[in-house]
Amino acid sequence: MTAEIISGKEVSKEIYGEMGGEIQAFIDKHGIPPHLTVILVGEDPASQVYVRMKGKKAAKLGIGSDTIRLEAETPEEELLALIDKLNADDKVHGILVQLPLPKHINETNVLLRIDPAKDVDGFHPINVGKMLVGEDNLLLPCTPHGVQEMLVRSGTPIEGAHVVVVGRSNIVGKPVAAILVQKKPGANATVTIAHTRTKNMGDLCRQADILIVAAGVPEFVPGDWVRPGAVVIDVGVNRVDDETSEKGYKLVGDVNFDEAKEVASKISPVPGGVGPMTICMLMKNTLQAAKNQVGDP
Ligand code: NAP
Repeated sequence: MTAEIISGKEVSKEIYGEMGGEIQAFIDKHGIPPHLTVILVGEDPASQVYVRMKGKKAAKLGIGSDTIRLEAETPEEELLALIDKLNADDKVHGILVQLPLPKHINETNVLLRIDPAKDVDGFHPINVGKMLVGEDNLLLPCTPHGVQEMLVRSGTPIEGAHVVVVGRSNIVGKPVAAILVQKKPGANATVTIAHTRTKNMGDLCRQADILIVAAGVPEFVPGDWVRPGAVVIDVGVNRVDDETSEKGYKLVGDVNFDEAKEVASKISPVPGGVGPMTICMLMKNTLQAAKNQVGDP
């Protein structure tokens, strides 16, 4: 069997198509576009690329965006004061502080300072709590929400399925489990979370109807951990040396794609899988945040 590919590029295109009309309708009704402000502290090259990509995507969709660049030495207090200012600005609907932050800045202090209504990353504990209790019109964390959309839009039956999530980070593993276990459409799964202390990982993974892997270990899951016919979502993005590539490296996921695609019924690739969904869900959150703030969710 060669698995059907669940392309994040295609799924995100579909979602952007749907959002176009909604963004225009928001502008027509409220006279301003949904607006995202990104704060970038320091000059981390990967962060610069991400921030540029976010700005370009927002512009293409008609979402307003700007990036505030601060020097790496910026004191924490100055960053917090800037967040206070943006929290109070009615024209700014979403605030994203690009991570990682320089070491002298406490990430938790920063995330807690963002108004939960503008927290388009969905990392504020208030939003995490709302996600857990299953509130609607929420700002869900982007990568896990993207995984759910990929499952739903690829026609994968989620209700009653056994989902095994490999990884329990606060940004991927735990929230994806919390989203898929909800008593809601596009969820209602039976979820198991695995991590470094899990016993018999291969046996557990083979029980999954849907296997979601976010371990951060290149090609961690071999083909024989995949139950024939299972759906595999590979969240991992890892750089590995590759002398045949001009850059000297290539990107691989946390799943051995070549092996798994022969066993799974559907599989997401790396790159072109979950990656494009994360930015797509950020745009969706910006629109959602704007709608929530004008009282028109
Ligand atoms: P993380 O914070 O490092 O967490 C990794 C999780 O995997 C931990 O819970 C860890 O278990 C578990 N794990 C690691 N090695 C394991 C092993 N050998 N056996 C069992 N469990 C193991 O990583 P993350 O931030 O969740 O990211 C995971 C991957 O997704 C990374 O490759 C990252 O680059 C990628 N990612 C992609 C996107 C995207 O947009 N595509 C977004 C976010 C992350 P313990 O808790 O026991 O240590």
